[in-house]
Amino acid sequence: MSEYMLLGIKTKLNLTSDKKVLMSKHAGIKRFTYNWGLATWQELYQAGCKFNYRTLRTFFNKHVKAEYSWIKEKGVCQKITEFAFEDLNNAFTRFFKNLGDYPKFKKKGKNDSFTVNCGGKPMPFGGKSIKLPTIGWVKLHEGLPHGTTSKVTISRIADDWYISFTYNQKKPQNLEDRTPVVGVDLGIKTLATLSTGTIFQNATYLRKYLKELARLQRRLQRKEKGSSNRLKAKKKLQKMFARIAFLRKDLLHKITTYICKNHATIVLEDLNVSGMMSNGNLALSISDCGLYEFRRQIEYKSEKFGCKLIFADRWYPSSKLCSTCGHKHEKLALKDRVFVCPNCGFEMDRDLNAAINLAKLAYSI
Ligand SMILES: [Zn+2]
Repeated sequence: MSEYMLLGIKTKLNLTSDKKVLMSKHAGIKRFTYNWGLATWQELYQAGCKFNYRTLRTFFNKHVKAEYSWIKEKGVCQKITEFAFEDLNNAFTRFFKNLGDYPKFKKKGKNDSFTVNCGGKPMPFGGKSIKLPTIGWVKLHEGLPHGTTSKVTISRIADDWYISFTYNQKKPQNLEDRTPVVGVDLGIKTLATLSTGTIFQNATYLRKYLKELARLQRRLQRKEKGSSNRLKAKKKLQKMFARIAFLRKDLLHKITTYICKNHATIVLEDLNVSGMMSNGNLALSISDCGLYEFRRQIEYKSEKFGCKLIFADRWYPSSKLCSTCGHKHEKLALKDRVFVCPNCGFEMDRDLNAAINLAKLAYSI
């Protein structure tokens, strides 16, 4: 589901009399172009020629515009003629699909309108003004939120000119629909355990690829320096490395997006990563899990989704506390995968117990 929604705006322009004349000029050129296109379409069709609106447009730009110098007058945005042909094509498409009548010639003063863009560049708007290509800044009747749009249509209703366009706006995240608090325990075997009971395993395919990576590395070392075989082996190794890096990042993104999208407050351990890294073999596994990357993603995504982020104190014993009675289990060893409370006898998966303790912090702060 996209987090953006398309909104439309139509609002009145507050124009000076000079600008009103300029708008009429644009609408006139649009009408002329559209009518030329329609007449030529009919002629070519009757003559049995093959064409589409693009060929008409190219011909018009190359040969017709030169004949009518007033189209190229100063202050006139040349994009109107492009959109005039698009309008004509849309009218025929609707007609062929039985959704509309056969296109009619446009009459002066009736549905005067034109469309312009900025050649694919975003056009900023906001407050009470918008900058139109070539035409420049124009005043709006009412204030708008700040944003950008790709094209605008300007039309006349009675003696007033209106502007309409669409723009993307971020969907408001409905905080009430989310789980209020989640504690996240990060581990080596299980990548993340949430206090809600949801777990994310370290992907097994990653482990498989890491084995393959080690094999390729050994192979490279056996190849003679400077040989073409060595170059080949090196390329293979680089490819595998890139693949692993991509898959790992992709997995982490899925997890961090899930966490931030579905929870209002997130409690994480403030990992003493440098302290853990000194622990030989463990260091490899931890860097593999991408804990730095995990934290980086959670930090920026919680901002994006409007979550509150809490870090537990480095010395908060989330693994050692009983999540039921609060007793501190001093003798719990790293290898103990199940937490058994010596005080109340409560038993739970070690990581889940830790995650629940982290979640509890949100209520005590
Ligand atoms: Zn207990």
